[in-house]
Amino acid sequence: MTKILSEQAEYPDQQELTAAKRRGAYEAWHQVLAQRPADVIGEVADSGLRGRGGAGFPTGRKWRFLQFDAERPPYLLCNADESEPGTFKDHWLLERDPHRVIEGILIAAYAIQAREAFLYIRGEYASLLPGIGRALEEARAEGLIGPNVLSSDYSLDIIVVVGAGAYICGEETGLMESLEGKRAYPRVRPPFPAVRGFNGRPTVVNNVETLANLPWIIHHGAEAFRAVGTSDSPGTKLVSLSGCISRPGVYEIPMGYPLQQLLEQEGGGPLPDRSFKAVIPGGTSVPVLTAEEIEGVTIDFESMRQAGTLLGSGGMIVFDDSVSMPPMLRAISHFYATESCGECTPCREGTGWMAAIVDRLLDGRSQIDDLDRLLRIGNNIEGRTICGLGDAAVQPVRSFVSKFRQEFEALLHESSISNAPDWQTHGHGPRTARHGSVADEIVRSEPVAGRPTYRW
Ligand code: SF4
Repeated sequence: MTKILSEQAEYPDQQELTAAKRRGAYEAWHQVLAQRPADVIGEVADSGLRGRGGAGFPTGRKWRFLQFDAERPPYLLCNADESEPGTFKDHWLLERDPHRVIEGILIAAYAIQAREAFLYIRGEYASLLPGIGRALEEARAEGLIGPNVLSSDYSLDIIVVVGAGAYICGEETGLMESLEGKRAYPRVRPPFPAVRGFNGRPTVVNNVETLANLPWIIHHGAEAFRAVGTSDSPGTKLVSLSGCISRPGVYEIPMGYPLQQLLEQEGGGPLPDRSFKAVIPGGTSVPVLTAEEIEGVTIDFESMRQAGTLLGSGGMIVFDDSVSMPPMLRAISHFYATESCGECTPCREGTGWMAAIVDRLLDGRSQIDDLDRLLRIGNNIEGRTICGLGDAAVQPVRSFVSKFRQEFEALLHESSISNAPDWQTHGHGPRTARHGSVADEIVRSEPVAGRPTYRW
């Protein structure tokens, strides 16, 4: 199987610039500097690369939406706010092969002619900072980043900013608000970031894995990338496998790879004396698949959609026959209710209501029509919110209740039917920053917008 992202990441010394360069790091960056930015965009568009953060939007097309203004150069924001439950592949990449991510940032920034790029890292990923800092420092010392990169007339600064530990900071407009030092309230669109984004300038936000594909695409060409995966979903996908599975971990597979095969071969199958019951294939914000539904599904955007779910972030959570689904839904519902920023009413109120109903189902205080009420609340949230968190909160509720209804009905039958509603709202704004001791050991620079900021 072709490995685009993970082959070098397996080497223990890949974080060091000398070792990474020996294996080809920054060769694509040298190539790119000899090309016109429009040609770089053309190559990436021709490759068919689609965003790996969840939405799957074509990367080249996203770049082409930018409105160029020489007076106000655009920004590139690398979204490393990986907060979707069950997803840890960007952490894996940043930890093992930071130079690949940095090279991806350089290529994308050059393509859109950004002069500053930001790497926005999830607050809980502070332990990654020393490794990323070292890699940036080495790259800067070699003239790969900074003023007049590699003696060219192109200059770029990469600034690392640590997020505030809120899920909503991973939503691209919430991320920009956070970078500007405000509460991470997602923005109403239009205007879209390509027109008016961070600091009011045209902005591109790309995910870590998306950018990490760029060195390979530039080095091998768009055609070679298209030869991997499927026609509509070219390339490979990093999936993070967790839950009731023998060999959890991060795996790189070509798009179009059978889901069942991933679980059985790479994942090593179910735990001893157990069988698979269900899989959430793309982080908790996508509909769950039952074990029967997995058959024939392949890991790509189209097949997942046909199966009634989404590839999402590729964070796969496996459940076996020992797992009761209602408590799982309780954990997921509380997550979204807690992470709702509270900006729009259907999400702020509805996510809290759904969590409260699942609570009372499990606590023996349910009302006989609670399952229908859950689904009705979900219908009233979906499509009526500013950002995708509202919809994300509905998908697990709807799919768990409809696909494992008997488990939820069993709770109804055990419960009293005469309790009064027990609504609770959990919506709140993004919290204050949390930082580990590792981050505190690094010398900080002038903060950007009040966020912990590091320059190497
Ligand atoms: Fe905030 Fe939820 Fe509305 Fe998104 S959908 S803006 S998280 S309240």
